[in-house]
Amino acid sequence: MPADYHMHTPLCRHAVGEPTAYAAEALARGLTEIGFSDHSPMPRDDFDDWRMRLDQLDEYVGLVQRARAEHPALTIKLALEVDYLPGQEDWILQLAARHPWDYLIGSVHYVSDDWDIDNPKKIDQWRGHDPLAVWTRYLERLTRAAQSRLFDIIGHADLCKKFCFYPPGDPARLFTGFLEAAATNAVAIELNTAGLRKDCREVYPSRPILETARQLGVTITFGSDAHAPEEVGLNFAEAVALAHGVGYTQSCQFTRRRRELVPF
Ligand code: ZN
Ligand code: FE
Ligand code: FE
Ligand code: ZN
Repeated sequence: MPADYHMHTPLCRHAVGEPTAYAAEALARGLTEIGFSDHSPMPRDDFDDWRMRLDQLDEYVGLVQRARAEHPALTIKLALEVDYLPGQEDWILQLAARHPWDYLIGSVHYVSDDWDIDNPKKIDQWRGHDPLAVWTRYLERLTRAAQSRLFDIIGHADLCKKFCFYPPGDPARLFTGFLEAAATNAVAIELNTAGLRKDCREVYPSRPILETARQLGVTITFGSDAHAPEEVGLNFAEAVALAHGVGYTQSCQFTRRRRELVPF
């Protein structure tokens, strides 16, 4: 089983279970490596209500260190899921320098300062917008995130499908420019199994996107996006089958932001 590189902690205010419980679950499921990647602080703590505050960053690192100490049989990586918003590049560089992160996942949730497109409380915004325009804006930001060289992994690449507001035609065509940027800048994409638990009922990203990624030489990681211990490694057999099906035989592991390719 590949490493599960995407899991959260209660510090983000919408996850349950201490990191040490996630680690215990990982061992019970036969995983040998995991990574915590909780939602990183924003420059302003009142930006939204689903992430840790800046003054909790050290506490977060301490919780991950405690999980390591309590589960020596498991390799536990220290990471963050960082929101990419244009203009926050300096902030992200400051965060990157604060702790010895093993990797940073760059995710686009916001297509504007007040619309996080995966937020169920804001689903009405989808009803008032043309899906193609939203997907296009989302992909502009995702491409900039890949080009920024701030991140090791791009999270849940087609998150915009979460609530099934699809543009007409084959949505995979919209991802070519992003995937070319990921290949050029040597940033991995993740197979995120949380999509299977959402309305879209698919791994992020979809198979046609993954096929293009494979053709372009984009590397991959795996993540459950667990917000509770019982979600650790969830549906990994399905994600591994999907990755094998499009020709992947290796995934990335990261140590202090150095990449290594390992077979799965
Ligand atoms: Zn979350
Ligand atoms: Fe996310
Ligand atoms: Fe996440
Ligand atoms: Zn996520």
